[in-house]
Amino acid sequence: MNRQRALVTGGAGFLGSHLCDALLAEGYSVVAADNLLTGKRSNLDHLRNETRFEFQEIDITEPFDCGEVNYVFHFASPASPVDYALHGIATLKAGSQGTFHALDIAHKYGAKYLVSSTSECYGDPLEHPQKETYWGNVNSIGPRSVYDEAKRFTEAVTMAYHRYHQVDTRIARIFNTYGPRMQLNDGRVVPNFMKQALRGEDLTVYGDGSQTRSFCYVSDEIDGFLRLAKSPEHGPVNIGNPTEFTILECARCVLAVTGSKSKICYEALPQDDPKQRCPDITKARTRLGWEPKVELETGLRLSLDYFRKAVG
Ligand code: UDP
Repeated sequence: MNRQRALVTGGAGFLGSHLCDALLAEGYSVVAADNLLTGKRSNLDHLRNETRFEFQEIDITEPFDCGEVNYVFHFASPASPVDYALHGIATLKAGSQGTFHALDIAHKYGAKYLVSSTSECYGDPLEHPQKETYWGNVNSIGPRSVYDEAKRFTEAVTMAYHRYHQVDTRIARIFNTYGPRMQLNDGRVVPNFMKQALRGEDLTVYGDGSQTRSFCYVSDEIDGFLRLAKSPEHGPVNIGNPTEFTILECARCVLAVTGSKSKICYEALPQDDPKQRCPDITKARTRLGWEPKVELETGLRLSLDYFRKAVG
């Protein structure tokens, strides 16, 4: 039995809470730290009687000490465009001060460290699909910059602690991920479309719907994190599904899965909305032996119960 203790910052969030479950299943004791700005305590309700699990309400933008750990998973940050627009300064602080503090914990205890970064590091990409070697096309002063630049800075701090303090670090670049526990009102495309379809409202496609995203189901994404966590890979690794869909195709898929009679309506495209996004996962395939298994339609079906209950 693995007697290691792991810290998950952002542990009450969508991905953080699934990661807590996976680490507990691997035999870890887990401490989830979250300031509950966008995370929800209810994402961890099912762990209430788990003796190897502990929740600490911590704001990681202030120095903190969660006690000795062997692994730090730094996942704390607002992550949806609606959330980081609402909490822009908190997002910048989570990526900057929060990252220093998470790395200080790893350094202090000699713990391994894995941080959630993002495909937003590539901005509105000029290379397609995006390899880890692509440096990105980011508007440093646009509305998305609070997230994009915070995460680029997160990567820089992480590499600095690796180089200067020899912290054993890893960087996961996450592409659009979906599944149960996404907040209905976080504004992301899958919860928006599911909510609208289940309520019989029009599905709001922004722009003409020709922009693309590639959607990874949460169980695949978590499997990628665990493989990366066990690997010696210090450079960034794309963890995402390489099957690309237009947003219009995504809307049609949601309509098919929900059996909804909702119509599609068109709204203005948000500023700096990336036109195309698709990971090149050659590195994850070859170095981690990882690739996603769950297709979009299957993943949406697996999420349906959760969204039905959330809609009420
Ligand atoms: N989008 C949309 N309708 C919605 C929500 C989002 O058409 O109700 C589009 C959005 O403009 C973007 C894509 O879906 O092109 C993905 O948006 P999301 O907010 O999920 O994540 P992003 O990949 O932009 O961070």
